[in-house]
Amino acid sequence: MNEEFITLTIGKQKNIALIAHDGKKQELIEWCKENIEILKKHFLCGTGTTARMITDATNLPVRGYNSGPLGGDQQIGARIVEGKVDFVVFFSDPLTAAPHDPDVKALLRISQVYDIPIALNKASADFMIQSMLMDEMYDHEVINFNKNIADRAKHMEK
Ligand code: PGA
Repeated sequence: MNEEFITLTIGKQKNIALIAHDGKKQELIEWCKENIEILKKHFLCGTGTTARMITDATNLPVRGYNSGPLGGDQQIGARIVEGKVDFVVFFSDPLTAAPHDPDVKALLRISQVYDIPIALNKASADFMIQSMLMDEMYDHEVINFNKNIADRAKHMEK
C-alpha cells in the first residue's frame, strides 16, 4: 500500500461550484439552462453574484458564497480542502484583468492538489457534464495530508 496517497470518493451526487467572471456570466447562465436536468440532481454552490444570477434565471438552488473579488473563490477553495466541493465549473474570462487574480490562481492550484475536476470553458464543461461518471461514484487518489504533516514535522525537527 502506498501511504503517500489516500483514496477519496466523489459521490454520485456531486457538490458543484459554479463561478463566472463578469464577461462570462451570461454564458454560464445559458449553460445552466441547457443542463438544468443534470444540475438538478446535484448540490450547487457558487460565488455570490454568479450564484444569485443563476438562481434568478433558472430557479436552481445555488448556495452563494461571497462575491469573487471579496473572497468567494477562496471560500470555495477552502471547501475543496474540506472535501465539501468536488466539481468546479469556472467560466473565467481570459481577456480581462481581475483584481482577485491571485485568488483565482489559488483556486486552480488547490483543485489540482485535490484532483478536482474543473472546467474553465464551455467545451470542457460540456464534456464533463456529459460524462457517464456524473451518475457514478468516483474514487481518486489524493495526497495523504495527515502523513504529509507527520513527515514534514519529523523532518523539520531534525
Ligand atoms: P461573482 O464572483 O460571482 O461574485 O461575480 C466571480 C469571480 O469574479 O470570481
